[in-house]
Amino acid sequence: MQISPNSVVQFHFVLKDADGAVLESSQGSEPMVYLHGHGGLLPGLEKALDGKAAGAEFTVTLPPDDAFGERRDDSELRVPISYLHGARKWQPGMVAVLETDHGHQQVTVVKVGHTMATVDTNHPMAGKTLCFEVQVVDVREASPEELAHGHAHGPGGHHHH
Ligand code: ZN
Repeated sequence: MQISPNSVVQFHFVLKDADGAVLESSQGSEPMVYLHGHGGLLPGLEKALDGKAAGAEFTVTLPPDDAFGERRDDSELRVPISYLHGARKWQPGMVAVLETDHGHQQVTVVKVGHTMATVDTNHPMAGKTLCFEVQVVDVREASPEELAHGHAHGPGGHHHH
């Protein structure tokens, strides 16, 4: 069957930047699983998957505007080091999870002092053109329960019940 709204899709992907450097990959682990048409993926990636069937292989390139947006210049922030989560010792270039009033946000560490750090609040992939190499593994109908929840269950999906 072809991928259409309410399909549950499994796919492998390799994500590269514009220079061909691998940023993320599902190779060697479980394929990614999602419920099509419910906003679970980057919209440009979901659009490229629409209508494809199991076995399809394709590449889709998303400019920053279709991925995580352009980098903003006014994005540096000084925060107490204790607000950063994900490591014990911080060095410039590391990605941290920052606690904010609006929840958790991924930031990149720019400078580290004794008690304060400077972080860049741009998404680590902001400003990057993303190139996804996709291999569709499986396409099936969603169960009524999955539709009610708005996400895929089973291997690679949610395991909350
Ligand atoms: Zn669920």
